[in-house]
Amino acid sequence: FEVRATPLPSPSIDGSVALLGLHDITALRRLEQMRADFVANASHELRTPLSSLIGFTETLSTSAKNDPEARERFLAIMLEQGRRMQRLIEDLLSLSRIEMEEHTPPDEAVVLPGLIASVTRFLEIKAREKTMTLSVEAPPDLPPAIGDADQLSQIFQNLLDNAIKYGRPGTPVEVRLAVVERGPPAMPAGLRAPCLRVSVIDHGEGIAKAHLPRLTERFYRVDKARSRALGGTGLGLAIVKHVVVRHRGAMTIESDPGLGTTVSVFLPLHGPRPPRRAAPSA
Ligand code: ADP
Repeated sequence: FEVRATPLPSPSIDGSVALLGLHDITALRRLEQMRADFVANASHELRTPLSSLIGFTETLSTSAKNDPEARERFLAIMLEQGRRMQRLIEDLLSLSRIEMEEHTPPDEAVVLPGLIASVTRFLEIKAREKTMTLSVEAPPDLPPAIGDADQLSQIFQNLLDNAIKYGRPGTPVEVRLAVVERGPPAMPAGLRAPCLRVSVIDHGEGIAKAHLPRLTERFYRVDKARSRALGGTGLGLAIVKHVVVRHRGAMTIESDPGLGTTVSVFLPLHGPRPPRRAAPSA
């Protein structure tokens, strides 16, 4: 709590009078702490590849100058570190752009099966390298979602990328689309029933229950070294969450350690809602 004093005019009393107020600043402090943590994390994430780039540049200009084999090796590492910084900066910029737009909900009609099929085409090579298959399953009459096509492409790319990264080689990654009777309570009541559900399903290592509530925090990873080695920034699911919030949708993460993970995104339908199925009469 913070105490604030406001002086009051008091012509009838000797001395001065003040109004003392107790203000709950817990939420404000928490926000300040989150911002400070974010800046510290982002700086740390950028500093590591930057130090490596500087170190290898120095080595290349001195001891490795006349060693063609070392030069090749160091240049490859430098390129990878540069790419890592680029991915991080692109994700940070995406997050800040999405945050700025959070209060203006999108209004395009987005046909999701086509949009997701384009994303899977883009990731096909990556999947094939792990002998994985990507499939999209949707009913033929699926209505469009209300959305921002670019942002939705980005989040399904992030989810499919995770499913490939953390999926077991040789297993399929499936995307299933459906209209569901009711979305999770996190969605605004008027948009929840019915709505669209897109599930990205992998058969990978899964995630222990204790980690699930924190996965959408910026830079939170179950295994930092493994995520980095796989090219992760730790921002993919934070981006998904912010896009979903802007769309007034919701997301759920279900996982069976050792068996796989299903991430579902729920989005409002565009246009007139399909009639609800009548309850069977007695
Ligand atoms: P990253 O860039 O590290 O993949 P994300 O924000 O996309 O960051 O995901 C956060 C963490 O959640 C990952 O580091 C990983 O530990 C875990 N994770 C995300 N998706 C999956 C998945 N499909 N299977 C297993 N773990 C996952």
